[in-house]
Amino acid sequence: MTKNTWNKRTTLVHGGARRSQYGEVSEAIFLTQGFVYDSAEAAEQRFQSLGEDEFIYARYGNPTVRMFENRLSQIVGYEDGFACTSGMAAVTGALTALLKAGDHVVAARALFGSCLYVLEDVLGRFGVKITLVDGTDNAAWEEAITDETALVFLESISNPMLEVVDLRHVVKVAHAKGALVVVDDAMATPIFSYSAACGADLCVISTTKHVDGQGRMLGGMICGSKDLIRGPIEAYMKHTGGAMNPFTAWVQLKSMDTMDLRVRAQAASVLKIAEALDGHPKLNSVRYPQLPSHPQHDIAMAQGESGGTVLAFEVKGGKEACFKLLNALEIFTISNNFADSKSIVTHPATTTHQRLPQDQKDILGISDGAVRLSVGLEDADDLIADLMQALDQI
Ligand SMILES: *Cc1c(COP(=O)(O)O)cnc(C)c1O
Repeated sequence: MTKNTWNKRTTLVHGGARRSQYGEVSEAIFLTQGFVYDSAEAAEQRFQSLGEDEFIYARYGNPTVRMFENRLSQIVGYEDGFACTSGMAAVTGALTALLKAGDHVVAARALFGSCLYVLEDVLGRFGVKITLVDGTDNAAWEEAITDETALVFLESISNPMLEVVDLRHVVKVAHAKGALVVVDDAMATPIFSYSAACGADLCVISTTKHVDGQGRMLGGMICGSKDLIRGPIEAYMKHTGGAMNPFTAWVQLKSMDTMDLRVRAQAASVLKIAEALDGHPKLNSVRYPQLPSHPQHDIAMAQGESGGTVLAFEVKGGKEACFKLLNALEIFTISNNFADSKSIVTHPATTTHQRLPQDQKDILGISDGAVRLSVGLEDADDLIADLMQALDQI
């Protein structure tokens, strides 16, 4: 079983492993909904109290899923995790498990569209009150978080424009008012996550992104203290049906063997590409947390080791120039996911953020010229050459 003295690379390969009586080397997939009991008494006993290695029903827990939960939560520095069907199941589960009618939530405005829908449209219908703030403005958080605030929600690095929140400060302000802090860590990546180090109570991860890392399947996890995860989070998730299936858990568990290698290689390529694009005459700006020109560069570098695997830039000439660029790219594929081993280019204004009202786009900096790049595992020099030839065609 896992030693908590292991470094990440070792934990990614061995963390949370459980072996069956057959002593298999590779982690087994337990594709089973239910579990049998030796006797009626044993069944009664198991429903009374569940041991470490005991399971009742796959919606509550499964050995393969539990391996995945243990391994990933150890990687991001939390005691435990609950694996969910998708990143959004994790976000919705964490928020709904912890909030009740009348509660006040403060959230950063630069939120993933589905997260905004859950907060405003779903939780709003049940009487949860939301205040949205500029996540990069410490004074705005201080003003918005009051004694009434039950929970604070934010993306550590926002999608798509890579705004970085001063997480340690927000946690301090929230905890002083007795509010829980929930961080969406999709862009920060589990390898470079600093939510636990900054004191966030829960981090939610779309494992669809860097954990799968190969664009195959949806998944999510809520990570936090044992008390929160095996308390209100598990209670809510196991009864409402958002648990991850064992096949997904197995694929994503095996993906973790290579996650550190993949994410570090992708992050190194993003930085190289950001530096190559910085100052290009066809661009107004390049945004990546490790570039000194990033508005929150100092905070980003004080908090995290890397800015992740995604960058954004603004092309001169708006939508028309962007479309020319997207259509001219040969290696980058036009899509809307990120963190795939294949590099992806996205025009947020006409796809992922098409429905956002113009005034909201303006506030978030999602202009018609904004382009998001998710950098994969191809050779960085090939990717730079592809971008340069496509920029030449504008
Ligand atoms: C992708 C993403 C999600 C949702 O994850 P799914 O696995 O697609 O449900 C939530 N938050 C952020 C910031 C994301 O990028």
